[in-house]
Amino acid sequence: MKNRELLLVPGPTPVVDEIYDALASETRGHTDPRFVAIFKNAIEQTKKLFNTKSEVYVVAGSGTLAMEMAIVNTVGKGERLLVISHGYFGDRFTPLANAFGIEVEVLQSAWGERVDPQLVAETLKTNTFKAVTITHADTSTGVMSDLEALVPIIKDAGALVIVDGVVATAALEEDMSKAYGNNEAYKIDVVLTGSQKAIGIPPGLAIIAFSEQALAAREALGQIPAYYADINCWRGVMDNPATYFATPPVNLIYAYDAALKIVLAEGMEAREARHIAFGKAVRAALRSYGMTPLADESVAAPTLSCILYPEGVEDGAFRASLAERGIIVAGSLAHLAGKAFRIGHMGNTTASMLEQAIVVIGEALQEQNHTVNVDQALQAFHEQIAQVVKA
Ligand SMILES: *Cc1c(COP(=O)(O)O)cnc(C)c1O
Repeated sequence: MKNRELLLVPGPTPVVDEIYDALASETRGHTDPRFVAIFKNAIEQTKKLFNTKSEVYVVAGSGTLAMEMAIVNTVGKGERLLVISHGYFGDRFTPLANAFGIEVEVLQSAWGERVDPQLVAETLKTNTFKAVTITHADTSTGVMSDLEALVPIIKDAGALVIVDGVVATAALEEDMSKAYGNNEAYKIDVVLTGSQKAIGIPPGLAIIAFSEQALAAREALGQIPAYYADINCWRGVMDNPATYFATPPVNLIYAYDAALKIVLAEGMEAREARHIAFGKAVRAALRSYGMTPLADESVAAPTLSCILYPEGVEDGAFRASLAERGIIVAGSLAHLAGKAFRIGHMGNTTASMLEQAIVVIGEALQEQNHTVNVDQALQAFHEQIAQVVKA
């Protein structure tokens, strides 16, 4: 299977041949020892990815199911959740938690900005919060959260740290053994993610890791208002993938196992450096075209960018022109619809794919009577990417 188009939306991301090949492997029964061995390996690799010896869950569903699993297994009805929101996906935790009778307080930044950690600290003093959600990178705004600042503040207040890693996992460090603020007790409790963003497989898997403390929170809740999303229903399968709770998506797990091999072979440190370089390079090139990233470079996500159009560029025509040339980018959400587009630069996307996008974006701008210098944009791109050999 060869991709005919370059999919640069902020998920799903380009699927590479090795992953398509794995996906197209023969479907076997979920208790077939040959499949069980692959599932087992995928679970072990997931633990390596998050650097945890605690429990991980790999379940059929989208990232939103992983969000739901994170909340419903840690916060009970009537307990309080603090949501730190940098956009659309941060906001999603509010209706989600409300659906389970959880009391929610939200700290929202203006789109393109971050919530001030000081405000988080002050809010945590006003009430007892069971958990706090952080969207590692918000896909609506291209803003990345500052885990270094937030994790110690939240743990200091005795709350659980829940990180939404959809659009960050496998691109940015999410190390569950890392002691933040040099304090052994200050660690991330839950990381949740989906398969189709920086991991680079098609949509369909919810992936989630729980610390010992998060598992203890689940136990303390007793019965919860969930069945498929209850981690206790899955724990036996994750500990022994030969057992059954609900049929795993066999072929997606082949693909996930192959994707994690790619991620771990590249190494998380190299992978994060590559994503940082890609983000800076794409934004430098687009700035040279007179376009403005919504997020300031100091808070911008390495995995995707939300880019404001210059005066006179029409969103629909611009994206259609890119699509005619085989490059697919996304529109923007909520009040930014029509005013900005979003481009993903994550997962198994390469520098040469991004170069191709820079050229085509230049052509589309020229079509809309904007004078741009494509060579200069490519030069800006290369200056930023110089340290990245892999392309
Ligand atoms: C995409 C995304 C989600 C939702 O994932 P789905 O797979 O669409 O359900 C949640 N959070 C963030 C940050 C995302 O980017």
